[in-house]
Amino acid sequence: MSQAARGTPPGCQNGRMSSSEPEQHSTAAPLRVAVIGSGPAGVYAADALTRQRRVPVRVDVMDRLPTPYGLVRYGVAPDHTKIKGVARALRRILEHPDVRFVGGVEFGADLTRADLARTHHAVVYATGASVDRRMDVPGEDLPGSVAATDFVNWYCGHPDTALERFVLDAEEAVVVGAGNVALDVVRILAKTADELRHTDIPQPVLDVLAASRVRTVHLLSRRGPLQAKFTAPELRDLLALPGADVVVRPEQVDIDPTAVGTGSPETRDVARAARTNLRLLAEHAARGPRGRDRTVRLHFWARPVEVLGGEEGRVSGVRVEETRLDADGRLTGTGRTTDLPAGMVLRSVGYAGVALPGVPFDTEGRTVPQEGGRVLDAEGGAVQGDYVAGWIKRGATGVIGTNKSDAAATVRALLEDAGALRTAAPELVPLETVLDERGVAHSDYEDWLRIDTAEADQAVELDRGERVKLHGWEAYRRVVGG
Ligand code: NAP
Repeated sequence: MSQAARGTPPGCQNGRMSSSEPEQHSTAAPLRVAVIGSGPAGVYAADALTRQRRVPVRVDVMDRLPTPYGLVRYGVAPDHTKIKGVARALRRILEHPDVRFVGGVEFGADLTRADLARTHHAVVYATGASVDRRMDVPGEDLPGSVAATDFVNWYCGHPDTALERFVLDAEEAVVVGAGNVALDVVRILAKTADELRHTDIPQPVLDVLAASRVRTVHLLSRRGPLQAKFTAPELRDLLALPGADVVVRPEQVDIDPTAVGTGSPETRDVARAARTNLRLLAEHAARGPRGRDRTVRLHFWARPVEVLGGEEGRVSGVRVEETRLDADGRLTGTGRTTDLPAGMVLRSVGYAGVALPGVPFDTEGRTVPQEGGRVLDAEGGAVQGDYVAGWIKRGATGVIGTNKSDAAATVRALLEDAGALRTAAPELVPLETVLDERGVAHSDYEDWLRIDTAEADQAVELDRGERVKLHGWEAYRRVVGG
């Protein structure tokens, strides 16, 4: 909703919320805040709102799915159980008496911004970055060439991704990109079903992985080992795969570790991390292969220029061009190409945000324009009552913990505006009233706990770890009903 449509409240100057008018009424009715998205950014926003005592709040954390935690549940690789443990901290936040989880509500479809203006003083958008970026090369859309986000959704058991989406009948696969998601995807492809048994991968997905014919996975990094985006812990996990040889060409890592300069990460921390990566890779290259059943080949200075099609119209390989940095540090092609055979190509070249109906959007950066967490309209003025946190605010960067400080900064801005937000919306109606008017059959935290319990029970039945995820919408409906 544009600022003009909603009027300029007291405390808003030149379209910006004044930060000089802090909330004074700690005995006032609670400030009602809707958080859209229950991933780490959304839940940390609820945490920052309920941790302070100056402004009483009630927070509704809404999600399209009946399950909370966003990418912690549907993005973090299933074999990264320690990172997945973050869900325990997120759970404590959702169980705060002033926080409520409302599942099965899709912003824009079930509930509009105008609806939320009737029910809440403020909205924090924390919808993440849910779609893939593209390589923009010929053949990218051939059958068998897919986004890593699809594959991640599939092995994480996202209910929107059908089991049949992946059959894994190719012997060679190419993963494009040198970020942590690429390493996750390579690891899952290169691990045996036995190595994945104690994860929460849904049983039908684990059965497909068990029957996988993939034996060689190529990872293409368009720049060198010093410029790769992946981080040392994830690289260590890859190099330590028990059932796969990870092949690093010694000549590609035999470089001056202080050569971090032109075209390379600038900050000292990033430079140090790059050198750690290089050291790990060089030590590994020196050890050589051990004759294991599966192979992962790391190709640096290699960018895809075409996804090749075979006789049946499916992917048959990738044409790869050797690259280098020019004198200005810009990536450039050498013109020398080779063809890698592959029956599956997974592009893992970053995530992008999706525009939210009625909310300003920067189509270039694929984020919501903002300043300090306040959403900005086309003229650069703050949109009254609209805030943003997480990947949809800053792009798909950082680790889960980054969202904590990010959400806290947004909440600071929101709380500074509290007085003006109350004045602008003195009369609110309960969320349930609007959901009922719209006929939205939403779910609640108790429903999630039922799913949670069913997944723990399934793990016991199958003798597999702590949790085995339910698979597909039908399975959720059986537990939750409706
Ligand atoms: P990312 O870190 O941005 O990596 C994207 C990779 O794709 C880069 O290597 C990039 O190369 C490459 N790329 C981009 N466009 C390309 C193109 N057209 N052709 C070839 N390569 C291309 O993204 P991500 O891996 O999706 O990760 C997103 C965020 O989630 C990151 O902050 C990541 O650390 C985080 N994450 C963390 C974990 C963890 O902590 N365990 C796990 C998963 C994800 P250039 O560098 O040359 O652009």
